[in-house]
Amino acid sequence: MKLTATFLLSTLLMAVAGSGLAQTGDPFQRSAPAAVAPTVSAARGVAVTRPVPITLTGVQNATFGSPRSSNQGSATRVVFDLAPGVSYSLTPTFTGLRVNVQGARVQPAVISRLGNSVSEYRAGGGQATLSTLFPLSLTDGWEAHEATLATGTRVLIIDIGATVSGGSVDRVQPGAPISAAAQALLNAPATPTASVSNLPPGDTVTRGGKVLPPAPALPGDNTARPNDLNGVVPGTSGGVTLPQPRIGKNPGQTRVVLDLPPGTAYRIVPGPGGLSVELTGPAVPAQREQNVSPELTQWSAQPTLGGGIIVLSTPAPTTARSGWRVQLLPPSSDQLARLAIDLSPAMADLTPLPAAARTVAAVPPFPASRGTAILALSATYVRPRVVIDAGHGGRDPGAVGSVIEKDVALAVALRVRDLLAPAGVDVVLTRDSDRELSSDKNTDLKMRAGMGTPGTQLFISIHVNALEASSALKGYGVETWWNPNHPNSSALAALLQQHMVEQTGAFSRGLKNNQSLSVLRNSRIPAALVEIGYASHPVDGQNLTDSNYLDRVALGIAQGVREALVTGVTAGAGAPTLASRAP
Ligand SMILES: [Zn+2]
Repeated sequence: MKLTATFLLSTLLMAVAGSGLAQTGDPFQRSAPAAVAPTVSAARGVAVTRPVPITLTGVQNATFGSPRSSNQGSATRVVFDLAPGVSYSLTPTFTGLRVNVQGARVQPAVISRLGNSVSEYRAGGGQATLSTLFPLSLTDGWEAHEATLATGTRVLIIDIGATVSGGSVDRVQPGAPISAAAQALLNAPATPTASVSNLPPGDTVTRGGKVLPPAPALPGDNTARPNDLNGVVPGTSGGVTLPQPRIGKNPGQTRVVLDLPPGTAYRIVPGPGGLSVELTGPAVPAQREQNVSPELTQWSAQPTLGGGIIVLSTPAPTTARSGWRVQLLPPSSDQLARLAIDLSPAMADLTPLPAAARTVAAVPPFPASRGTAILALSATYVRPRVVIDAGHGGRDPGAVGSVIEKDVALAVALRVRDLLAPAGVDVVLTRDSDRELSSDKNTDLKMRAGMGTPGTQLFISIHVNALEASSALKGYGVETWWNPNHPNSSALAALLQQHMVEQTGAFSRGLKNNQSLSVLRNSRIPAALVEIGYASHPVDGQNLTDSNYLDRVALGIAQGVREALVTGVTAGAGAPTLASRAP
């Protein structure tokens, strides 16, 4: 995103006037000033590309600091004067941009809320940090270049914002942090796939080498703990006014921070329209902001007797366990306690499954179909058989993003087997290791469907979804595909989707059947394909890296299979329903 001349001017005048924004002349003709690439050191120790020493004549007692800032929309521009002889490096991180300065003394300072996208400026000890409420990658969330003012002063201009991109002029490997394995696959040429018509949409996403960085988690591992709906800030409330809520926008997630005075009590109420936060203690002035972000359509504050209520309206319903996460951060020497609320419809329940829930109730045996009865003369009942297909495998990784599809699909398939087998189900896995069934994709898909042999009741294929980077923020949640290959396929799909959403709290994208998929079309038994999340989404991608989430997905699939088996949503007309079950 390139910022308008007026913005340049406003920033300069800030520089000149040191406060507020005014409109006169514009010494900042982008073409005029020579842009010099600042030295950029990649996050997490990725090698610095090419240090660009800024050899300006040395000035003793040079200082660095006194940032000038202004906003344009949600983006913030920060300008630093560069004394002659000063050099610096810029390091984008998950929590902001770090500026390491050489050749000048960095003036110690702490400025909170330097701008809409810079929640804090902290400097001292040779380093200055511009904190953001969203992660920066090497090219996303910021852009930096130098310019020369009409006065001859060199300045470093840094633009920061969720939609700003460019980083430094020097581009290095984008899309950190993902696993080295995933990065290697992203860079590798795509292996030939079957014709598009046979594959679920997520499988046809071309790998472009770029993945959105994960959404920032709140400090400490808050995903494994249920959301605290109530809390109190220690101390006694003195009737002070609640400071303006702070909003941080990052790709796929929005953070709302409420600075709570001592003694404030809060109660959070999730619901179909979003969240309401009831506060007791501070005075809450009436306010409203609309069209805040994709995750927060609007927020409003209303005073009530003894406090106030903050309503955070979201595009999708929230429940106690999904759509948001909260953390109460204790007060520090220069900050109030902060109630930090992250909002995203992609947020699922990542808390561990209680031990008692890690099982599936027994599935009564099925009457042997004629074929098998002959073999099992003594037994007239057999364990019902189902095929669980972990998508992709071997040289075909499937979708690559926060995770590698083939690995996650297998991890879930093994969990499903380990839940169903003890419940009396004969589980056939199309693969139980990292391998493809055939080097030819079409053959591979047919072989998988073919494992649903006569006497088998159900076929379930497990996949991970993905979207191109350009539309990645639109893709999150779980969906189940079915084709009209068997009268019971849609009912099977509905049961799987229902139980997966119940167990994970994930956003439901519902049932899909607007495409003929090879593994479904070629199945002769009730078949469904589940897409358990998007590897391309900053939040949903994190769900897929979480073992608790995979446990919950697997339990949802296993419960869906069980209900199908015991309610007659199976292949065999002879398949019993609960009512007709023999003693
Ligand atoms: Zn797939």
